[in-house]
Amino acid sequence: MLSPKKKIVFITGTRADFSKIKSLMHKVEDSSDFELFVFVTGMHLSSYFGSTIGEVEKNGFRNIFKFINYDKYYQMDKALATTIDGFSRFVSEVEPDLIVVHGDRIEPLAAAITGSLNNILVAHIEGGEISGTIDDSLRHAISKLAHIHLVNDENAKKILMQLGESEDSIFVIGSPDMELLEQSTISLDEAKRYYDIDFEHYAIVMFHPVTTEFMDMKAQSENLVSALKSSGKNYIVIYPNNDLGFEFITQSYEALRGLARFRLFPSLRFEYFIALLKNAEFVIGNSSCILKEAPYLGIPGILVGSRQNGRAGSQSVLKVEAQSSAILEAIGQIHKIDKTGAKHTEILNSSERFFEYLQSGAFFEIPTQKVFKQIVYKENL
Ligand code: UDP
Repeated sequence: MLSPKKKIVFITGTRADFSKIKSLMHKVEDSSDFELFVFVTGMHLSSYFGSTIGEVEKNGFRNIFKFINYDKYYQMDKALATTIDGFSRFVSEVEPDLIVVHGDRIEPLAAAITGSLNNILVAHIEGGEISGTIDDSLRHAISKLAHIHLVNDENAKKILMQLGESEDSIFVIGSPDMELLEQSTISLDEAKRYYDIDFEHYAIVMFHPVTTEFMDMKAQSENLVSALKSSGKNYIVIYPNNDLGFEFITQSYEALRGLARFRLFPSLRFEYFIALLKNAEFVIGNSSCILKEAPYLGIPGILVGSRQNGRAGSQSVLKVEAQSSAILEAIGQIHKIDKTGAKHTEILNSSERFFEYLQSGAFFEIPTQKVFKQIVYKENL
């Protein structure tokens, strides 16, 4: 008798995680050994944040399940509880062999809790990174619940081992979205036409809340907006994610609406976003893209505030406090940045590596009972 296809569930809650896992999802969907299930929730289903479910659907996956996990206040702890409830009922119906989660948001945390409490293997992509805001705690919590770790590099592996994770459970596959940068086929003209953008020169703005600085987010976003207005440049402004404090940012962007030098968008389609990014004068804000895609593409960045604290920097990125004068000064310096100093990122064929491990059965040999690997310090020997 033929062995049944193994069922693999991916959860996606935002454009940010989807761009990082979709190449892996295609590998699973295209294989006759596995069956892909996609649980779509979070910002994807919110029209306010651009209904990015459309991006997921355009990929043509057969089994897509939609679940609204928020109410009108987008409260993060309540959304976490709701997602656990919905995802738990979903897995009891599907009975997956493996759950794949990415990153550091409440949706992957909900899926990792559900998987680990039901003895279902959980694989976590991009654990072992360090950053600011609540993301850092969420990411490490997900790693502690996951059984399998698919990490960017050797440094991430060391950080997970410091958290007590077993070396056998950590697989270096690289960052899955980076391979997509080479494959993007949309031209700048197409992207500009699609979004009706007529700037010749422009920069991209992506600023998210720092949940642990909630009380200061109104001032930070107003400072950013004031500097952008004073700079005299053209900007494509992309809405933040729905983390605590996002309204401060979207409210301050209202001052830009209708101004000729600014175009506001809830979210851009990934390939179009990459085409616009490749041709941007610079990118400003606190998106992970400032430290990942932008340096790789040779686009300078200005990192505002603390959200990416702890992540490896790049010579092509200026880091400033979220104060108007500092931001404006950095914008004035941007032409001096040596783009050749951009961080060189080695692009691994992540989806291929992921699929090889999947097919070899390596993931399925990992036990659901985890063992904490204690580091033995010299003085205790
Ligand atoms: N992205 C996209 N369209 C957009 C903005 C972002 O496709 O309009 C993708 C892009 O790959 C980017 C990633 O989402 O690198 C993450 O961006 P974001 O700033 O939303 O999230 P972060 O990773 O900083 O949490």
